[in-house]
Amino acid sequence: MLTLDFHPTGRHFLQIPGPSPVPDRILRAMSLPTIDHRGPEFGALGLRVLGGIAQIFQTHHPVIIYPASGTGAWEAALSNVLSPGDSVLMYETGHFASLWNKMALRLGLKPEFLGLPGIEGWRRGVQADLIERRLRADSGHAIKAVCVVHNETSTGATSNIVAVRRAIDAARHPALLLVDTISGLACADYRHDEWGVDVSISGSQKGLMLPPGISFNALSPKAIEASKGAKLPKAFWAWDEMIDMNKGGYWPYTPNTNLLYGLAEACDMLLAPAHGGLEGVFARHQRWAEGVRSAVRAWGLEIQCSEPAAYSPVLTGVMLPEGIDADAVRKLIYERFDCSLGTGLGKVKGRMFRIGHLGDCNDLTLMAALAGCEMGLKLSGVKLAGSGVQGAMDFFASHLVPVAMKRAA
Ligand code: PLP
Repeated sequence: MLTLDFHPTGRHFLQIPGPSPVPDRILRAMSLPTIDHRGPEFGALGLRVLGGIAQIFQTHHPVIIYPASGTGAWEAALSNVLSPGDSVLMYETGHFASLWNKMALRLGLKPEFLGLPGIEGWRRGVQADLIERRLRADSGHAIKAVCVVHNETSTGATSNIVAVRRAIDAARHPALLLVDTISGLACADYRHDEWGVDVSISGSQKGLMLPPGISFNALSPKAIEASKGAKLPKAFWAWDEMIDMNKGGYWPYTPNTNLLYGLAEACDMLLAPAHGGLEGVFARHQRWAEGVRSAVRAWGLEIQCSEPAAYSPVLTGVMLPEGIDADAVRKLIYERFDCSLGTGLGKVKGRMFRIGHLGDCNDLTLMAALAGCEMGLKLSGVKLAGSGVQGAMDFFASHLVPVAMKRAA
C-alpha cells in the first residue's frame, strides 16, 4: 500500500530552531580524514578556529571550545566563576532560561528566578528595569552573577543585552554578566566585548550551521580573574588548562577534530566579505524573520513574542487558537510534507509551534516551509484569515536583498 509517511526523494525540511540544516560545503569539510590532535597540522587548525570564532563573538579575549552540547557550556560558565552557595540572579524568558535555572540549583548555587508573572514573561525579552531594581536592593552585593538568555529559543524573543549591561552598571553592582547566546550567535547581532559580557555561551548547531557537538564560552578578563577564586568543582570544564593549551592551538584532551574542520569552514562562510560578513548574516536573518512574520500575520494567527522590539531573527513562535493541539498540527505537517517544526516547550506545550529561519536558509526554502505550514493548518481545521504564503511572497518580492548580501561576481 502506498503511504505518504515515507519520503524517499528530496531533502527533509529541518525547520526547527536548531539543529539547523548543515550546508554541503560544511559536510564536505567534515569528511576529511581525522588527524593526530598532537601533530603540527592540528595546531594550525586549532589556531584557525579559535581566531575565527573570536571574530564571530566579536571579542579579543579567549574563547573556549568544548566537545559538548550547549548544556555543557552552561555548566562550564557557572562552575568556572562561582562557588557553592553563591547567589545568582537569573531571568525567566522561557524554557531554556528555566533549564539553566534548574542546573544552577543542582550545582549548589542559590538562583533567584526573576521575571514577569505566568506566561507574560514567555512573550517578551528580559525587562532590564527589573534587574536594575533587584540589584539596587542588593546593597551587600550578595549576588555574584546575572544570567540571561539572549535569544530564547522556546519563544522567539531576543533580549536587549546592552540594556542588561546598563542596568547592572546603573545599580553600581559588581555581579558578572553571563549570557546564553546558544541560538543567537551568528544569527542576531552579538558583541561580547562591546556589550561588556563576562561569559558568553554558545553552541554549534544553530547559526554556525554545524551538527550538534561543540559549544563555547567566550570570556572577559573579569571572568578569568573570578575563575581563579571560584570553588565549584570542575575538571573537564576548567578554563585554566584550556587557555594554556589553546595558545599553541591544542586542547588538554582529544577535541572533536572533524567538527573543528566544519567550524573552520563555517567561519569562512560567515565572515566572507563578499557576502557582507557578519553584517550580511544579521541582515539576512532579519529579512527571513520578517518574511515569516508576514505569513503569520496574513494567517491571522498570533506571534508568540508580543514585543516587536524583541522579535527574534532566528525563529518565530506561532500561537494556535484555543482547542487546536499544536503538536497534532506539527505531526501532520511532518508526516504529510516532510517538514520538522519546533514543538512548544514547557508552559506553552501544545499551544504553539516554532518555525526556525536560521543558518543555511533562503527565501525559497522558507516559502516551501510556509507552504507546508499553511497546508497543515488548513488540513487541521484551523480557520485562517488569509494566505500566509501570499503574504510572505509579497514581502520577499518587494524587499530587495541588501547589496552587502549579493554574491560576488
Ligand atoms: N540554551 C538555548 C537558548 C538553547 O536553544 C538550547 C538548545 O536548544 C540550550 C540552551 C541547550 O543546548 P543543548 O541542547 O545543545 O545542550
